[in-house]
Amino acid sequence: MKKLSCSAMGGGDKCQEIFEGETAEELLEKATKHVMEAPIHEDLRQEMASQDEAGKAKWMESYNKLWEETLEV
Ligand SMILES: [Zn+2]
Repeated sequence: MKKLSCSAMGGGDKCQEIFEGETAEELLEKATKHVMEAPIHEDLRQEMASQDEAGKAKWMESYNKLWEETLEV
C-alpha cells in the first residue's frame, strides 16, 4: 500500500488530506472523489474543468511518476 497527500498531488498547501491505495488507480479514485466533494477545492475543480486533454495527460504522467517514487508502507 502507498500513501499520498492531497498537497503532493497538486491540491495546494492548505489541504491536509492523505489518501491510501493498493494501486495507483485506487488512490487516484479516492483523491478525485475528495477533490470533487471538498469545499476547499472549488478553485481546483474549476482548473480541472478547464484543462484540455494534453493538460490531463501531463498531470497523469506526473501522478504516475509520483506513485512510482512513493515507497510502500
Ligand atoms: Zn484536498
